[in-house]
Amino acid sequence: MEPAVSTESKYGRLNNYINGGFAASSSGRSLLVFSPIDGSLLAEMPCATTGELDAAVAAAKAAFPRWSRTPIKERVQVFFRYKYLLEQHLGELAALVSEENGKTRGEAVAEIEKCIELTEFATALPNLMGGEVLEVSKGVECRAEHVPLGVVASIVPFNFPAMVPNWTIPNALALGNCMIIKPSEKVPLSVARLALLLKEAGLPDGVFNIINGDSATVEAICDHPGIDAVSFVGSTKVAKLVYRRATQNLKRCLALGGAKNHLLVLPDAQPEMTAQNVAASMSGCAGQRCMAASAMVAVGPVDDIINRICAEARRIIPGENLGAVIDRAAKERIESYITEAEQQGAKILVDGRNYVVAGKEGGTYVGPTVIDYVRPDMAVATEEIFGPVISITRVKTLDEALAIENASPYGNAASVFTQNGGYARYVIDRASAGMVGVNVGVPVPREPFSFGGWNESKFGVGDITGKSSIEFWTRLKKSTVKWNPEAGINWMS
Ligand code: NAD
Repeated sequence: MEPAVSTESKYGRLNNYINGGFAASSSGRSLLVFSPIDGSLLAEMPCATTGELDAAVAAAKAAFPRWSRTPIKERVQVFFRYKYLLEQHLGELAALVSEENGKTRGEAVAEIEKCIELTEFATALPNLMGGEVLEVSKGVECRAEHVPLGVVASIVPFNFPAMVPNWTIPNALALGNCMIIKPSEKVPLSVARLALLLKEAGLPDGVFNIINGDSATVEAICDHPGIDAVSFVGSTKVAKLVYRRATQNLKRCLALGGAKNHLLVLPDAQPEMTAQNVAASMSGCAGQRCMAASAMVAVGPVDDIINRICAEARRIIPGENLGAVIDRAAKERIESYITEAEQQGAKILVDGRNYVVAGKEGGTYVGPTVIDYVRPDMAVATEEIFGPVISITRVKTLDEALAIENASPYGNAASVFTQNGGYARYVIDRASAGMVGVNVGVPVPREPFSFGGWNESKFGVGDITGKSSIEFWTRLKKSTVKWNPEAGINWMS
């Protein structure tokens, strides 16, 4: 066994994590990991061989009988300790998340705090996952128990290097499964650090394994006969590929995709609070959140609010309170959306293109961008941009605004800003989104409520976190049991 990384450069050549230890990859194919903050080279990440995936699956399979039969009240003890370790290492973990992802220190701290909340939920699973038992006729009882699936895979995106892995790790493992996780090739460092904390928390070897790689690794996971279920979080294009491939191979699959979230701003909205929420929603994590609002629909006269949004946006400074976007390709893609909208007649009120942070010239920053007079059919209004950009489309009625929201193929989140409870209810009832906010720019439900969108933002049944995740990570064992309730005990007759 070798340590997670060699000491030759900042992080050196990364290893897979198999059966409780880091193991060097024999792969001849590697990708490089750069920090978006300054472009510095962080690590070399070999793409695991199929033999290495086989070894991880074998380790997970070997660990499964014992781990799955460990009572859940014992299994969650590992997660009480893991939660404590996340708290202890919060600063260090946040620094790593920020370094590999580019988000600000404050955002990275919030991400680790969310990991703690997710783990806290998992420690409560013994209180939530009880089965059912009923005497269905004299002396006959039917029971239904949630039992673990076996070896499960978790495939995760770049935008939350620690939080999205922790959407799946504590719940899937506390519920008795063993896991292979494939981190994003753009941010593979944080998950490796989490593996060490899980080990320190007492997780038995083989229960948690990391296989590094890219799309070829994902395909191998979907095809692997030893893997029983696949969870995926990433773009809609890949979510569709993974969902189709995993289910084609008769695996259970839940695949969360991309988003285009609408904010409906009504004339009676509280101006200051609305402007702050809109600006924070579009720019937080540099707009690289599946819950980021990127399409505002201004209903009626809301110019005062738009002016305030611009003022808020101008206070958001790349390299200070705005992080970097993940890489140069992302910066170019985001800026091309802005340029295209401008060429199509939209008005750029705040322009974040061509931003360079002094002293971090190798970093990939885009400033906050507000684009007004966007037509609903423009790409900037319909496609996921994944950058700190908001488009504003002006309409006259709430029904017109809802028609725009409903027309989107996505359905992660939608929010309405209003002081009127009736208007808010109208939007809650009609928005075609899994998560709806009222005067909330980023309507992420907190535990124990579950996280998950609708339409092309999620494929599969149930949600990935909260109580709903119990259904995904377990299956029901039904037993029918008959005893003679009248039988006396007389061993001597
Ligand atoms: P991505 O789809 O490019 O990558 C996600 C994972 O899929 C990575 O591990 C990657 O290695 C793998 N992958 C990439 N291309 C593949 C292919 N062709 N075949 C098989 N596997 C492939 O996503 P990303 O750029 O890392 O993350 C950003 C996206 O994730 C955005 O669309 C965002 O909205 C979405 N996201 C959604 C949620 C949600 O809850 N719905 C949460 C976070 C992020």
